[in-house]
Amino acid sequence: MWRVQLHKINYDEREYQAVKEVLDSGWLTISSKTYAFEAAFSDFLGNGAKSLAVANCTAALHMALLACGIGKGDEVITPALTFIADQNVTQMTGAENVLSDITSMEDWSADPDDIEAHITEKTKAVMIVHYAGFACDMERITGVCARHGLLLVEDCAHTPGADYCGRPLGTFGDISAFSFFANKNIAVGEGGMVVTRGDELYEKLKHLRSHGMSVQSFDRYKGRAVSYDVVSAGFNYRLTETNSAIGLVQLAKLSEANEKRRILVEHYYRRLDGHPLISIPFRRFTRGKANFHIMPVLLSGKADRASVIELMKQEGIQTSIHYPAVRGFSAYRDIINPAPKAEYVSDHELTLPLYPDMTIEQVDIVCDALINSCS
Ligand SMILES: *Cc1c(COP(=O)(O)O)cnc(C)c1O
Repeated sequence: MWRVQLHKINYDEREYQAVKEVLDSGWLTISSKTYAFEAAFSDFLGNGAKSLAVANCTAALHMALLACGIGKGDEVITPALTFIADQNVTQMTGAENVLSDITSMEDWSADPDDIEAHITEKTKAVMIVHYAGFACDMERITGVCARHGLLLVEDCAHTPGADYCGRPLGTFGDISAFSFFANKNIAVGEGGMVVTRGDELYEKLKHLRSHGMSVQSFDRYKGRAVSYDVVSAGFNYRLTETNSAIGLVQLAKLSEANEKRRILVEHYYRRLDGHPLISIPFRRFTRGKANFHIMPVLLSGKADRASVIELMKQEGIQTSIHYPAVRGFSAYRDIINPAPKAEYVSDHELTLPLYPDMTIEQVDIVCDALINSCS
């Protein structure tokens, strides 16, 4: 249907083979593939990261807040320009969301000063997102959290392969949450990883993932245990073996895939830099290596975004918006503070197609259509 679609998975024979191995093994949930995926992911992050594979990133964020002891009466500072899962999980714990605005029209990361300005005696945790795989200012944000005794949760849905000054994102917060949803840099369909560096948080997360049980069913199958205790309340937020097996392959392919993204984004920059109606965020980014999860642009107030989207669609080009304003949703209209810069971006942002196997010619098709529809 689309001439250029927003995203496409980069699967080959290796993913098919990995799934077949799991099906042939006859064991479909947490065992060797999941343990291997967790170990590989921890290795990949380094810095003492301990990883638990989970059903999705939303589950990881939910577990993160609960493991941090957040609930009714608490406030969590969440990013204003993010996917709504950040606000939803906060709301589901009973805590209140307080939005922190982005830094500027060039830097869409959470503004450390704005985070600090929203701290009250009820604030218990700060959640941040590394938008499009560009690191937030981790030195200043960890500084604010340390100064005020706040827990830090990193929403790392966009970040596999990205770093802050050489250190992988997801190794700064008390807990980090990764997404392996179908359109992410590591794509397994539905999946995620919750990461911590603390032993106590790791144990809490393990129990939250699996009914608070002290022993896994694989251990019983292996004859290592006959029964189990339930040490706390918990969920079933586990990842399947098939998805872990795909995740292992995708992780191995990640750095090559991210490099392909980088080359395509450089071409986008060459084509779009200097256009009077189109600006690109993070063009002067110096905080580390990005992984180019998505290709966002900011349209000038003089361009009509709805008609640009429609004209692009007529050219067979799929676009998206990252993200609609939190306060624009009925559930949050009346219960959340404004964040004017993020709301401006929500009204003028347009996400262009980007995926590892996209071609330079396709980037040109997208840029030609965008430039034409903005004139
Ligand atoms: C995709 C995404 C999520 C949710 O991830 P799921 O794995 O679909 O639950 C959360 N936050 C951000 C910023 C995302 O992009």
